[in-house]
Amino acid sequence: MTEALIDPFGRAVSYLRVSVTDRCDMRCVYCMAEEMVFLPKPEVLSLEELERLCGLFVRTGTRRLRITGGEPLVRRGIDGFLQSLGGWLNRGEGRPGLDEITLTTNGSRLAGFAPLLRRAGLKRVNVSLDTLDPERFRAITRVGRLERTLEGIQAARAEGLAVRVNMVAMRDTNEDEIDSMIAWCGRVGADLCLIETMPMGDTGEDRTERYLPLSLVRARIERRWTLEPSAYRTGGPARYARVAETGRRLGFITPMSHNFCESCNRVRLSCTGTLFMCLGQDDAADLRRPLRAGLPDEQIIAEIRAAIDRKPKGHDFIIDRRDAPGAIARHMSVTGG
Ligand code: SAM
Ligand code: SF4
Repeated sequence: MTEALIDPFGRAVSYLRVSVTDRCDMRCVYCMAEEMVFLPKPEVLSLEELERLCGLFVRTGTRRLRITGGEPLVRRGIDGFLQSLGGWLNRGEGRPGLDEITLTTNGSRLAGFAPLLRRAGLKRVNVSLDTLDPERFRAITRVGRLERTLEGIQAARAEGLAVRVNMVAMRDTNEDEIDSMIAWCGRVGADLCLIETMPMGDTGEDRTERYLPLSLVRARIERRWTLEPSAYRTGGPARYARVAETGRRLGFITPMSHNFCESCNRVRLSCTGTLFMCLGQDDAADLRRPLRAGLPDEQIIAEIRAAIDRKPKGHDFIIDRRDAPGAIARHMSVTGG
């Protein structure tokens, strides 16, 4: 195996998030503008190009891959791409290979894809679901249909995939549903993860008003539910507790109120081949240029190493003003969350 990727702070990069498309069949208010302009097709890497880059990361020590977007399941050819990446799974100790491939999806097409995901070797999926109320679901996603996401979750469970529901907790929007979501996840056998709103990309909405610190949410949850400590980690930024009454895990992702950077092992590859070393910083490396210039693997790996050498210590989100210096201009759908 080629030497591992280690950043200047001694953190080994072993987790790659890959956004396979910036397109989506929903327009969530915190993520996209209503009239979103998507990237011109020639700028987007083919799935073969993305697969080659993934392979280079695997050779340099990546053990986990998360496929995201935009909505990954709207990308044509995604089935073959996942099958092909599945070939890197379980290759045994000491050989470059993946321990895990996961997917983050809005669930709209999950019902049709669940059997294929299982066959490709996925064991768990994250499904975004902010509300169980059809009208609210429509208001938050602008165009989505709740029943399709619910069917997707059922289908994934039926295929034996573990499901984690991702819920962005928003003031005056869905904060009154957190208890019912905990109970519902208990019934369907899913874990739940609460996420703070991050200031990424102009969505035509002011997120300041919706920002809800999870420290406050947690205190409210603890009045009704018993949260037991849990050491469970997935390699991602969530910190977990176990809900004694349901037996399911409850995660908290708190980029705004708690800095989770010290153990960061992640980098993100956009669908244009741009490598972001930190979700909350603008610095990036263009891997499409060396790829399309036909450079050999070793030279592209050298460019990846040069980028990892610039991985910052942490992010610095600020949510006070939409145009505040801590806000990030690119949309979450570009980097994939
Ligand atoms: N379309 C898929 C989905 O919705 O799960 C995958 C991509 S989406 C960008 C990944 C995650 O980012 C979702 O769970 C979504 O809720 C979250 N997200 C998007 N914009 C966000 C923001 N501004 N703050 C916090 N989370 C955000
Ligand atoms: Fe699409 Fe996911 Fe963004 Fe919602 S959060 S608009 S589903 S990419």
